[in-house]
Amino acid sequence: MMKRILLIGTGGTIASEVTDSGLAPELTTEQLLAHLPAVSEICDVECMQLLNLDSTNITPAHWLEMANCIRKYYDGYDGFVLTHGTDTMAYTAAGLSYLIQGSPKPIVLTGAQKPIGFDSTDSKVNLTDALRCATEDLPGVSIVFDGKVIPGTRAKKTRSKSFQAFSSINFPYLGVLRDGVLLRYIRPECQVAPVFYDQLDTAVALLKLVPGMGREAADFLLERNHALVIESFGVGGLPESGGFYACVRDWMDRGRIVVVTTQVENEGSDLGVYHVGHALKRRLGVLEAYDMTCEAVVAKLMWILGQTRDRREVERLFYTPVARDILWPAE
Ligand code: ASP
Repeated sequence: MMKRILLIGTGGTIASEVTDSGLAPELTTEQLLAHLPAVSEICDVECMQLLNLDSTNITPAHWLEMANCIRKYYDGYDGFVLTHGTDTMAYTAAGLSYLIQGSPKPIVLTGAQKPIGFDSTDSKVNLTDALRCATEDLPGVSIVFDGKVIPGTRAKKTRSKSFQAFSSINFPYLGVLRDGVLLRYIRPECQVAPVFYDQLDTAVALLKLVPGMGREAADFLLERNHALVIESFGVGGLPESGGFYACVRDWMDRGRIVVVTTQVENEGSDLGVYHVGHALKRRLGVLEAYDMTCEAVVAKLMWILGQTRDRREVERLFYTPVARDILWPAE
């Protein structure tokens, strides 16, 4: 029997048309599907239009809408495909990985760098591949793009224009598609039934360090948020001038969560290596991202802080792997 797939449209380039003010999402999921007549041989698709936004406009409230939609229709379908803009797809994929945990059914995000109506487009192959993956034994949230299957917690947009838009950071591809056939390398773990969450705390900020920066921006963000992720340099550390150590200590004393990550795309942080990072971890007790992507760190903190503000519990949950988001052993 043919698998039943729910195709959920949220916008993005894939659904965009040329307007006087640039590309804007206008096509419905039915219109997208009309470009792919051969899909009827792969699966039985039902269409739903949840949103039609450039993903620049997608917020964590929209992640909750997507998760709620999947929860509502979970029993009626074998798999789910969300079409989504590429710009923030990695954040949404991470968000959904925390909001829907252990799903035995595939939840696949895809999109395109060129609209489906253009002569040269990646839309058709990406959407066909995503629908095919949604019929396979591929549990959990993933991004299917340019012939690769990337875990939802490991994706990052690493190219702004070419079709090969996404990379899997610090983790292998789950599989690849060759001529429409999925070669699955890894089967993600799952549970008998998914666990859905419906709370996020969006008071999570991200600060990218530049040489010579002082504590002012960190103070500003820590005053207004419950957690701050600091993208530091190399394997991690904070400048010894500029008052950063006092800043972090003061705000942690007032209950804020501080996570140090790295601006370097691959291989992650290791705060204990250099003097500039050592005390942060040993004495101040900041958390570190290790091999997690920045997108996953932000989404994971929103999910954790949606459940608890207790520091020990935040730390425990942060270092507990979810959907293969962290491999590095917590000390
Ligand atoms: N700006 C678009 C979006 O993220 C880009 C894309 O979809 O490729 O919605």
